Amino acid sequence: MTSKIQWTNDTWNVITGCTQYSEGCQNCYAARMHKRLTAMGQKKYKEPFNAVVFHKEALTQHTFSRLDTKRKMIFVNSMSDTFHKDITDAQIKAILDECEWNDPNIFQILTKRAERLPDFDYPFNVWLGVTVEHPKYKSRIEHLKNTNAKIKFLSCEPLLADLGELDLSGIDWVIVGGESGAGARPLHPDWVRNIQKQCQDQGVAFFFKQWGEWESKSTLWNWSGGIKLLNKKDEKKTILMTKDGDIITHAELINAGCPNNTMEFRRVGLKNAGCLLDDKEYKEYPKIEQRG
Ligand code: SF4
Repeated sequence: MTSKIQWTNDTWNVITGCTQYSEGCQNCYAARMHKRLTAMGQKKYKEPFNAVVFHKEALTQHTFSRLDTKRKMIFVNSMSDTFHKDITDAQIKAILDECEWNDPNIFQILTKRAERLPDFDYPFNVWLGVTVEHPKYKSRIEHLKNTNAKIKFLSCEPLLADLGELDLSGIDWVIVGGESGAGARPLHPDWVRNIQKQCQDQGVAFFFKQWGEWESKSTLWNWSGGIKLLNKKDEKKTILMTKDGDIITHAELINAGCPNNTMEFRRVGLKNAGCLLDDKEYKEYPKIEQRG
């Protein structure tokens, strides 16, 4: 299936369904999409989202081929997590074998269940990634580093806090993005700047996908329009958030001053919020090496 995900060309779903694993799962896009596909009567999605199903026939029924003349990037299991506990080692191995067979296409596999990653051998054409949406999940990076994957990447999406210092040795690519959907949480620009700077300093490709639903307006240290936002009409569309990710009210702001780089965020929608970081677009990819 052709994908709308910016950093890939196509998706290939051998597994459907998943269960929540960490904070980044709170507004899971796959769960929302699954519901829609069930309502449309798609057989593959007839089980509820929390039933993890391995579709053996989908291993070979797909839209790419080893004879493809134009190399595609294919996101594997965008509707699940390949390393979910309900998926056996043999099933994961079968997916990896199919990836290898379909070289020269590139297969991107992303997981939050990073503990299982070192148990497998990864073909040359698999890009392996872990989600790091919060600093408490930085240990996932170490599991990723303990694999033989040729290209290793981090997906910091939805980024929910400042990740602090990152040791990006052995990491080829970092993707950052905000959250979409009804319950989307805002993304503080300082969190993104911190990652972009470390990627630049450590020679790692940086891809900033988008801000999500919320646009940051200004740091409130320099902002004089606070009283205007007490207007009830604006309240739902506006959030004040500190760099630590704490949401504060206007009353708190007025009483306590402006804690830790508080910013005003306005809900403008995914498209309007865009993807510029300090007026610059970052859409870098890792260098693709030819086999041997
Ligand atoms: S791991 Fe991914 S697919 Fe599974 S619930 Fe979390 S966000 Fe959704």
